[in-house]
Amino acid sequence: MTVPYFDLKIQYASLRDEILQAVDRVCAGASFVLGDEVAKFEEEFAAYCDVSHCVALNSGTSALHLALLAAGVESGHEVITTSNTFIATAEAISYTGAVPVFVDIDPITANIDPNLIEEAITDRTKVILPVHLYGRPAALDPIAEIASRHGLTLIEDACQAHGARYRGRRVGGFGQSAAFSFYPGKNLGAYGEGGALTTNDPQIAEFARTLRDHGQTKRYFHDFIGYNYRMDGFQGAVLRVKLRHLDEWNTRRREIARRYRELLEGAPVTLPQDSADCECNYHLFVAWTAERDEVREALAAAGVQTAIHYPRPVHLQRPYAALGYRAGSLPHTERACEQVFSLPLFPEMAIEQAEYAAETLAGLLQERTAALQEVEA
Ligand SMILES: *Cc1c(COP(=O)(O)O)cnc(C)c1O
Repeated sequence: MTVPYFDLKIQYASLRDEILQAVDRVCAGASFVLGDEVAKFEEEFAAYCDVSHCVALNSGTSALHLALLAAGVESGHEVITTSNTFIATAEAISYTGAVPVFVDIDPITANIDPNLIEEAITDRTKVILPVHLYGRPAALDPIAEIASRHGLTLIEDACQAHGARYRGRRVGGFGQSAAFSFYPGKNLGAYGEGGALTTNDPQIAEFARTLRDHGQTKRYFHDFIGYNYRMDGFQGAVLRVKLRHLDEWNTRRREIARRYRELLEGAPVTLPQDSADCECNYHLFVAWTAERDEVREALAAAGVQTAIHYPRPVHLQRPYAALGYRAGSLPHTERACEQVFSLPLFPEMAIEQAEYAAETLAGLLQERTAALQEVEA
């Protein structure tokens, strides 16, 4: 059996008629940029996230950038975030002229450790930007409490967390604003680039709407230097179709995750833990082992594809060398980058494929342990 890491083609086959009709509506109406489908998607996604506003954009990176600008972040400021993330989280901070301050992760959750945030706060800190990595919400209540005690703004990087819940509430409305990505591989993926900013603050929404469209408040009247961060009409139309399936897809992802956990119980590998606080959307199912590279190779040889999210922490990436972090600065984050690997997980995979992947992994871990014990004996 082969188990691909990911496959978007199966999903298209199941949605083809709906998608083609939606794309046809955009072409017939010639609303290729923003337009009716995008406006409707904004309403529907805001309702889905249980927030009052959604501003559709051309990427998650743009959403992070506008969220930070809306919070007044600029040169001279610091933004506290995690280094165990996709680099866009930090890039968006850099676009504003501010400096990212990386706090180590809690190794159980792989998200920013709330207990380490306070010691990173200075008089330049403006925002705390937790990431809901792999679709697992960060410790939002403790983080919000720290932010409010220090007069800081909370912004969520929810780019991997569509539909995930923290203490019963969907992510996207816990801070001043949140950023979502609709990159094709995300749980809610467009057919191209896409993103959104969500907020309960009408002024933040208005600011983001203006900035995404060259700072214009009236056609050809510009109040700020803005950007071209608008969402395409096609993406709005496709996302509306796909949003109707998101909950069922996330449920399916959780089922596959549960099966992985059952079959890997007791195996010498660290699995993502569910907690009473968090309903994860299982964007990724990420396991840890010290023998990650050998294990991945053996899995690949058995037909099971895996991936690494992420192999190098942001603080050790070349563009951030000048910040002065070095190997050992953030030990848990660095260990994650050495040990994590992502098992195949997408809603259309057969449960037999997940079972094969888990049994193959359990089997080869057992062989390796037995071989090791022989050497020791
Ligand atoms: C995907 C992602 C982004 C960036 O989103 P794009 O739509 O690719 O710009 C930002 N942060 C995280 C955590 C992501 O996974």
